[in-house]
Amino acid sequence: MDHDLVVIGAGIHGAGVAQAAAASGYRVLVLEQYEKAAQGTSSRSSKLIHGGLRYLETGQLGLVYECLRERAQLLRNAPHLVELVPFYIPVYRTTRRRPWKIAVGLALYSLLSLKPFHRIPRGRWQELEGLRTDGLDAVFSYYDAQTDDARLTRSVLQSARDLGAEVVMGAHFESATIEPDGCTLTFRKRQVEHQISTRVLINCAGPWASRVLEKITPHPTPQPVDLVQGTHILVPGKLQQMYYLESPTDQRAVFVMPWKGQRLIGTTETPYRGDPADVRPLESEISYLLEVHNHYFTPHIEPDDVIDSFAGLRVLPIDDEKAFARSREILMIEDDRENPRVVTLYGGKLTAFRASAETLIEQLEKTLPPASPIANTRTLKLPEVD
Ligand SMILES: Cc1cc2nc3c(=O)[nH]c(=O)nc-3n(C[C@H](O)[C@H](O)[C@H](O)COP(=O)(O)OP(=O)(O)OC[C@H]3O[C@@H](n4cnc5c(N)ncnc54)[C@H](O)[C@@H]3O)c2cc1C
Repeated sequence: MDHDLVVIGAGIHGAGVAQAAAASGYRVLVLEQYEKAAQGTSSRSSKLIHGGLRYLETGQLGLVYECLRERAQLLRNAPHLVELVPFYIPVYRTTRRRPWKIAVGLALYSLLSLKPFHRIPRGRWQELEGLRTDGLDAVFSYYDAQTDDARLTRSVLQSARDLGAEVVMGAHFESATIEPDGCTLTFRKRQVEHQISTRVLINCAGPWASRVLEKITPHPTPQPVDLVQGTHILVPGKLQQMYYLESPTDQRAVFVMPWKGQRLIGTTETPYRGDPADVRPLESEISYLLEVHNHYFTPHIEPDDVIDSFAGLRVLPIDDEKAFARSREILMIEDDRENPRVVTLYGGKLTAFRASAETLIEQLEKTLPPASPIANTRTLKLPEVD
C-alpha cells in the first residue's frame, strides 16, 4: 500500500483528518481539486467558533458541549486565529423567544462554557451601535469566538504537513475500486492521471461527498442528505460587537458581525440541488438579509451598498424538520463496519473539526497498521499562515 489513508478534500475536515492521522503516525495523503485549500464550504461559513446557543433549543446538548470544549482548546492552541468576542441578544416586545427563555438558555450555555452572561442595563443601551431601542425589552450579552475560517483551514493543513502529511493541490479524484484490503484510486493533476493505493479512503468532499461515492466501485450506499444553501453579505459599517437577531418575518436567527472593518450579515436556508461548484447568493437571500439588518439598525443599507456576498452549502440529514431543527452532528459512514475501506464524512461543524477527526482516527485504529503517535492534537499549537 502506498498510503495508510488518502483524504479527498482540503476543507476543514480533510485538513483535520490529515492532521489527526499524521499526529498518530500514519502515512497520509490529501488530494484537493482546487489549487488552494478551503475553496468550498470552509471559506463560506459564519466564521464562528461556538457551541451554538440555538442548538440548545433543539436539544443537541452533546454537540454544544463538545463544541464549547473545542472552542476552549482552539483559544489556547490558536490565539492568533480564534478570538473571544461579546455577542449581544436584543429582545423586543415582538421577539418570539422571551427574555426568561433566553436567560435560561444563556445560563446553561454559561455553565457549559464557564464564561458568564449579563443583562445589559437600560443605561448602557447607547452602546448598541445604531440598534433600534424602541420596543426593546432586554439586552443580553455573552461570549463566543470568531475566526477566519479559510485561514484556520490553511493552518490546520500546514500543521498536518509539519507532522509529515503529503498534500497535492489541483488533484482531482477521478475513481476508486474497493479491494479486499484497501482501495486503488486514480486522480488527475494537470491532465496526467496517477494511480495509487491506500488502506482507507476518507471522503471529506463536503457537499461533493455523494458525487465522490458515485465514482467508487462497488458503490458504497450514500447517506440520504439535503444540500441547504446559506448566504452572507458584507456591507459597510464598523462594529465592535456581534448581534444575534431574530428575523421579523420567519423568526430565524441572523447574525450581524464585525468583519475586517465592515459588517457581515448571515445567514439563510435555501434548498439547493445543483453542482456544489455553482452555488451563488440569490437576490432574494440578499434582500432578506438586508431586511433583517434594516429592521434593527440605522442607518439603513441599500442593495447598491453591498460590498460582497458568498454562499456555502450545509450537508444535512434528510428528514421532515426545517433545516434549522436538523442535527448538526457529523456523520461518519463506512462502506463496511467490519472492514472499512471507504469512510465518508457528512455535515459537521468548523468548530468541532479536531474532535471529529480524532474520533475518526480512533475508529480506524483496528483497521490501520500499527503506528507510533508523534503529537497530540489536543495540545498542539497551530502554525501562523498567510
Ligand atoms: C452557511 C454556513 C455557515 C456555517 N457557519 C458555521 C460556523 O459559524 N461555525 C461552525 O462551526 N460551522 C459552520 N458551518 C459548518 C462548517 O462550515 C462546515 O461543516 C465545514 O466548513 C465543512 O467542511 P468540509 O471540509 O466538510 O467541506 P468543504 O469545506 O466544502 O471541503 C470539501 C473539499 O473537497 C474538495 N473536493 C470535492 N470533490 C473533490 C474531488 N473529486 N477531488 C478532489 N477534491 C475534491 C473541494 O474542492 C473542497 O475543498 C457553516 C456552514 C454553512 C454552509
